[in-house]
Amino acid sequence: MVHRPPPPLPIRRLAAAACLVLSGALTLAAPAPVDDAARLRDSAMKGSGALAIVTELVTEVGPRLAGSAGDRAAVRWATARLSRAGLSDVHALPVTVPHWVRGTATAVLEGSPARPLAVVSLGGAPGTGDEPLRAELVVLTDFKALEALPADALSGRIAYVANRMRRGDAHRAYADAVIARNEGPALAASKGALAYLLRSVGTDDGRTPHTGMTEFPAGLTPIPALAVAAADADLIERRAARNGAPVVRLESSARSLGAAPSADVVGEIPGDGSLPGIVLVGAHLDSWDLAEGAQDDGAGVAIAIATLERIRALGLRPHRAVRIVLYANEEQTGTGAVAYAEAASRLNEPHVAALEADFGGGRVTDLRVDATLAAGRWVGALATALKPLGIVRAPEAANGGADLKELKDRGVPVVDLVQDGTHYFDVHHSANDVVSTLNAADLDQAVAAYAATVWLLANEADLAR
Ligand SMILES: [Zn+2]
Repeated sequence: MVHRPPPPLPIRRLAAAACLVLSGALTLAAPAPVDDAARLRDSAMKGSGALAIVTELVTEVGPRLAGSAGDRAAVRWATARLSRAGLSDVHALPVTVPHWVRGTATAVLEGSPARPLAVVSLGGAPGTGDEPLRAELVVLTDFKALEALPADALSGRIAYVANRMRRGDAHRAYADAVIARNEGPALAASKGALAYLLRSVGTDDGRTPHTGMTEFPAGLTPIPALAVAAADADLIERRAARNGAPVVRLESSARSLGAAPSADVVGEIPGDGSLPGIVLVGAHLDSWDLAEGAQDDGAGVAIAIATLERIRALGLRPHRAVRIVLYANEEQTGTGAVAYAEAASRLNEPHVAALEADFGGGRVTDLRVDATLAAGRWVGALATALKPLGIVRAPEAANGGADLKELKDRGVPVVDLVQDGTHYFDVHHSANDVVSTLNAADLDQAVAAYAATVWLLANEADLAR
């Protein structure tokens, strides 16, 4: 470990002050944060340790469904891991999460011959009760076709929505496809459906179904809702095209057990006090239960921890505090994000910027900056620092991750380091979300990008100009 003298260096502060007074007349040397951002970047590329972090998480803890024993084990692991990283003020912020249990689910496509379908319940959906549920399918091409059905059109039947997710432009393709999972079951229930089947929201073509959350508004009786693996969705569609409406028999023991305790896990590298505010790096600690959540979001957890560990390893002390938040319950109802944002408001903690890693372990391809920061000179310096990593500045404004929405709504600027998702949705929310789908080089590149970005955010005096 290399130890540097404690910043801030008086000469650098003097130079910064002079620049402010002379409004850009002094352009003799690059500001020091840029040099340290480059050092952080280069050091992460030589080995960030991120793959070892996610490997430890999935080996020692495994699946981390909110409210489960795995979730509680993850909170214990994360608290110990952040302490081991040498962070300050490591603590678990209590969060109430739903306690939904998957149970088992089976489906059989009747006919000659009858064929078993590979299915999984969607999160939050109820089971079929004591008796199996048997009914004719109404085969719909997509969510729009479901929307277009008149009231009661699904009475006594099971809705099946084919809704194929396209490969490529993963972020947009997911946003387009996922509405049929989030809102489809409730809409089908409101039109009289007994149950809901959906072609998995994913890009693989095998027999591995993909789960994910669905929501039923209060007052609507929820119905069983299941995702079908792509290959079996093809089978349903072929049978329907040849023989008309197929009949399916379903059984699911999914159920909700009310609420359970969990926690956001928080730690930080304190700032040296020369600049106000906090730079937040987030990821979510919970996962789905079908696998070990290596891509979603073990990779993000590892990228965030490794980013702060890089700063510590180089003996750097930021002007602003750099805080890591490992959120509870991103996958189901987002209560971890709400709890953190409310606590930050209550404590009157100013956040100058926030980033979240929640798109697997792919390389970072694009930088997107919030509109309020887009004119900052530091953005140009950051784009230069990220160029050797193959990252370009995209013209779109940053969105922030799902866990940052609460902060964003309270006016906190967000920065996106957009990751390549070409293969992410092959495994996302499925039994194949395992650590063998990750690789060290891509994670190191992501850590390099996060470390350089966080460093500039934590050390540039004026981020808006
Ligand atoms: Zn996620």
